[in-house]
Amino acid sequence: MKQVQFNKIVAQFQNLSHDQRLQLRKEIEHCSELKEVCDLLESRIETRPYCPHCESSNFIKHGFRNNLTRYRCKSCFKTFNALTGTPLAKLRKKELWMTYSQCLLDSKTLRKAAKLSKIALGTSFKWRHRFMAISQKNETQVLSGIVEADETFFLKSQKGDRHLNRPPRKRGGKAKKRGLSKELVSVLVACDRSGHEADYITGSGPLSCLWLRNNFKQHLDDHVIFITDTAKSFTAFSQQEEIAHITINISQGQRQKGVYHIQNVNAYHSVLKNWMKRFHGIATKYLDHYLGWCNELHTRRISEPLELIKLAFELKPPLNKT
Ligand SMILES: [Zn+2]
Repeated sequence: MKQVQFNKIVAQFQNLSHDQRLQLRKEIEHCSELKEVCDLLESRIETRPYCPHCESSNFIKHGFRNNLTRYRCKSCFKTFNALTGTPLAKLRKKELWMTYSQCLLDSKTLRKAAKLSKIALGTSFKWRHRFMAISQKNETQVLSGIVEADETFFLKSQKGDRHLNRPPRKRGGKAKKRGLSKELVSVLVACDRSGHEADYITGSGPLSCLWLRNNFKQHLDDHVIFITDTAKSFTAFSQQEEIAHITINISQGQRQKGVYHIQNVNAYHSVLKNWMKRFHGIATKYLDHYLGWCNELHTRRISEPLELIKLAFELKPPLNKT
């Protein structure tokens, strides 16, 4: 903008009402946030200069749309931008992403996040699951040293579904039966003493040795010492995989054996349950998103809105067990 034009605009500021001044300040904030977000997104192409469709590095700039540079691949002739192929592809209103990410970091409910970011409730719902999608899998979590594991249970919920296959239950209700039942979904939480934490939805019914071998084994480093309660599946799994295993007989009132206990994992169960209370029941189909979200917040791998956006749009590297 030319200086003369700019000066003319500034001269008009004195005619603004109080509300207009506040609005202008907000608009300027959003402009700088939009720039920060777009710079971050564009940096992905600089660090990873490949076409997301065919991996070719032979591409050219092809215009500018929705605040991002567009590229055209000379190998597959498709166009793309920095967000193509990421969970944040085609999401609009980038100027509000920083505000929304802060709401996620502050564990705001869908409704509060929508109000603070001035977006529709439906958009808030869509954004939350897109922003949190990447954290739902424990792809890079490898647990080492002393590894504690224990199950916790959540009431199954069809929240948001139009067609319930059971009579409606009062919000935040309780299961009719005690212990394991089809009304509950089981979550296995494991952690090591270096602060790594991983959680898995294992479904309804008792945890099986086969499930542990197929889904959990890959996240254990060699030479771990595995601490659990006396559930048979843990014992069978450890024997088959030749893992050093120590059991704590919780039902007999045992709390620890020397330095070995499962108090860290049980403490995390409490954190998880307390944190989830604020959402007044979570649809089971989205439970993995919330587990990932709590994990990110709890282990403090992210604390700034830009870090969260980076995590949400970056493709995670494949599991690299070292
Ligand atoms: Zn291509």
